[in-house]
Amino acid sequence: MDKFDKYDVSETDNNTLLVQGDSINSKEVEAPKGPYLVINGAWYVDQFPTMIVAEKIDGTLGMFYLTPFRKVRDEELKPYKGYHPRKMKGSPLPDYLYRFYGLERSGETLSEVIRVRISPSEKEKLEATAENDGKSVSEYLRGMIKLSDPSIKSVENGVAYVTRSAEQILSDVQKLLQDKPDADKELIQMLLGGKYPLCPICGDYQGNLQFDGSAIIGCEKCLDDKQE
Ligand SMILES: [Zn+2]
Repeated sequence: MDKFDKYDVSETDNNTLLVQGDSINSKEVEAPKGPYLVINGAWYVDQFPTMIVAEKIDGTLGMFYLTPFRKVRDEELKPYKGYHPRKMKGSPLPDYLYRFYGLERSGETLSEVIRVRISPSEKEKLEATAENDGKSVSEYLRGMIKLSDPSIKSVENGVAYVTRSAEQILSDVQKLLQDKPDADKELIQMLLGGKYPLCPICGDYQGNLQFDGSAIIGCEKCLDDKQE
């Protein structure tokens, strides 16, 4: 499961971490008390089997020892000179383990996670399509996701999302193609099929959520409106 060859870790019901293995007695580990060190992300990298590589909020990379579980301090991060861990063989630190190292993911990473993911070539297409329409990409996207309200709700990590059903996507695509026969059907389909975060402040789903630490402070759209 996790990157612990010699023992297994699992979450218990009472919020602790159960550490079990052949060579050690089972023990329950409690998460350290906050405040936590806020980072953009953390990864196991195969090349450094005893370390975890972290991206700090200023974008710089550092690494710290995998064991023991403890409150990791900024000062103990050692310089890491390799490629970004996303480009290395390895895997992200599972979300539930962050707090056992006294770590917290920054809002920036969270909002990155919940954006509709598109590839660079799809992004180019999207930019070109929006430009043809005389709109910015976000105006174009907002117009598009306004077609029919996504009807399927789900909650992940405390964030509510809405998505469209297959029927909704189909009928929206048809509507759009009637309007704009030369629109890129695949791109539209992909955008309509996105999973949109629901803003708990304004109740809308048309902007990326913005975070202050782990608290949602609104979405791009309602925060923009506030500023005007
Ligand atoms: Zn909002």
